[in-house]
Amino acid sequence: TPIIEFRDVNKYYGKLHALKNINLTINEGEVVSIIGPSGSGKSTLIRTMNGLERINSGQLIVTGHDLADKATDINKIRKNVGMVFQNFNLYENHTVLENVTLAPKIVLKRPDDENKEIAMRYLEKVGMADKANAYPRQVSGGQKQRVAIARSLAMHPKVILFDEPTSALDPEMIQDVLDVMKYVAEQGITMVVVTHEMGFARKVGTRLIFFDKGEVLEDRKPEEFFAHP
Ligand code: ADP
Ligand code: ADP
Repeated sequence: TPIIEFRDVNKYYGKLHALKNINLTINEGEVVSIIGPSGSGKSTLIRTMNGLERINSGQLIVTGHDLADKATDINKIRKNVGMVFQNFNLYENHTVLENVTLAPKIVLKRPDDENKEIAMRYLEKVGMADKANAYPRQVSGGQKQRVAIARSLAMHPKVILFDEPTSALDPEMIQDVLDVMKYVAEQGITMVVVTHEMGFARKVGTRLIFFDKGEVLEDRKPEEFFAHP
């Protein structure tokens, strides 16, 4: 079942044609890795999927709503589509636990007891339960990213977008974050991941897209990609 559909999508930054007539369908449960040179439009592509960037033409249907339609409530889409950033974007003045409970409290109006229970459950899954009362500045980059993933999971999204989630990390922290991403994939959550981590793309990914100059150059199963380089 399609969960993200680009139909003839174009995106411009002024005169720069960042996304060139994209046609792309992502189905529920797919784990799509996106690779390609710097500046090719990978980040733009995934940022359109939750409305962080607006498209200029075409249709972009995400969890049943067309992002090109001015009448579409973007907040409805963001409930279903989480995002994990390169630089974590945690709330620095809130504890690890509060980082995870804040959005469900405000956006979903989840009752406090249940909210805390769900948050702690995901913090355990990502190995951060013992840091629940720490502040982001007190934990490492790898740990911050695991909190960011727990925060996403606590919203029970259908899709999580990852924009170079390990690129800002010291090498020794990368594997822990990739392990958590593998756990996310095992939950059946649709994932779109801009990454340089070929091991993840090959072992966890179900599909690999090579993006260049605002276009999809190749779109294959990882095993085909690696068999025919
Ligand atoms: P990638 O993620 O592959 O590195 P981006 O999507 O970040 O590529 O960028 C694609 C192109 O769009 C680049 O040429 C970049 O400089 C440009 N670009 C990205 N964001 C903006 C912006 N907010 N304003 C103007 N140009 C932008
Ligand atoms: P990870 O488990 O993500 O690989 P590290 O191995 O980098 O984390 O960190 C080891 C320990 O050092 C962790 O318990 C972490 O809390 C602590 N630590 C790392 N960076 C900082 C920091 N900037 N401030 C305080 N503690 C830190």
